[in-house]
Amino acid sequence: MKLTIHRGTHEIGGSCVEVRSGLDDARIVIDLGMPLVQADRSPFEWRRYEQMPVEDLLAERVLPPVSGLYAHEEPTVRAVLISHAHQDHYGLLRFVHPEIPVYCSAGTRALIEVSNIFLNTAADLRQIEVLSMWKAVTIGAFRVTPYLVDHSAPDAVAFVVETGGTKLFYSGDFRGHGRKKILFERMLEHPVQDVDCLLLEGTMLGRPEGDYQTEEDVEDAVKGVIESTDSYTFVFASSQNLDRLVSVYRAAIRCDAMFVIDLYTAFVLDRLKGISSNIPQANWRNVRVLYTSYHANKLAAVDRKHLFRFKGSKIGLPELRSHTGRAVFFYRDNSYFRRMLRHLGSLESARAIYSMWPGYLERSDLEDVLRSHGMGLTIIHTSGHAVESDLKGLVSALDPGCVVPMHTFHPDRFRSMFKNVVTLDDGEMLSLPVSTSGTRE
Ligand SMILES: [Zn+2]
Repeated sequence: MKLTIHRGTHEIGGSCVEVRSGLDDARIVIDLGMPLVQADRSPFEWRRYEQMPVEDLLAERVLPPVSGLYAHEEPTVRAVLISHAHQDHYGLLRFVHPEIPVYCSAGTRALIEVSNIFLNTAADLRQIEVLSMWKAVTIGAFRVTPYLVDHSAPDAVAFVVETGGTKLFYSGDFRGHGRKKILFERMLEHPVQDVDCLLLEGTMLGRPEGDYQTEEDVEDAVKGVIESTDSYTFVFASSQNLDRLVSVYRAAIRCDAMFVIDLYTAFVLDRLKGISSNIPQANWRNVRVLYTSYHANKLAAVDRKHLFRFKGSKIGLPELRSHTGRAVFFYRDNSYFRRMLRHLGSLESARAIYSMWPGYLERSDLEDVLRSHGMGLTIIHTSGHAVESDLKGLVSALDPGCVVPMHTFHPDRFRSMFKNVVTLDDGEMLSLPVSTSGTRE
């Protein structure tokens, strides 16, 4: 087996790994993400590139240089595997040749469909083959098994890829402190055996772990803020972060507050209901759906029936204004939110919670906007990624032949944490298994 990380050896975002089988030279690609940073680490702006043809995107190194993967070439890559529905793992999927199958979980497929409607990600859903958890599929000389993991994206998986007697474990993004932490505990108790190489994410290395260790801690802290007012609480979070939505919903219910979501969030929840009956829906207790013409138009363009799906829970701004009692808004930091603020009546005792990675706040004027309405902003968040102790736990359980860092700005730190670390550069090929000494010059 030969492994090439095209992007991700020294950065977070734009993950892309190419795996070649020693048996028949067949190749598969794991994840094809949108970069998050440019070469100088400034934020990556897709708008600068979106009109470019594939050849230019390759020349600009936005598209990873994988031959036989893109629509303008003869398709020679056997399959693309997508670990989860975060843009930095699948955001470049639209460029894949339409004859190459794309394998992912049901939840990932659902979220790609939603993003196609609302975010213009334009991935081709017809290529998608839905994987069943823990069930191996054969793709040419490869055997691929998806393992459901605990992450901020629902239905995220790690992949075990086997070919020619060599076994690769691709961690994808994961953690051990979310609402599905039992998955991580099970992996430690019953680890995959005989792993030759662990491709391990290291997002949290170099980042502070924050004040809240688990989703339960987040739920309790959000509840504390909600019950400190008889008015509105605005919670800024991603609608696709299902664990967080559940935490905030549970906190709202515990305070008997109305839980207000927008049409986009209602649609996300509706599309995900197939993966679990525990996912809150628009018709659940206290949930109300605020329609906006922007989201309504997007949904109507697909099928007008979608607009009637949530009618029973629909609420308008006048009704919200006259509502007495607590209301929790699960919202995003966008221009609609700013407009809505002007129509909600008194914000005198309103509260605001930022429940995303605080790094995003630096690029937003949200705090100024809230301040102009007399509100402060409390950060209540726990990461979607594994903390150092979880990384150590996984490596100790799997005891892999080598550990290859990726999805990190600090690959060097792996050396002080683990033996048998092989650090690569983007585009550098590694032959597996590595020699028994486990090191490589
Ligand atoms: Zn992720």
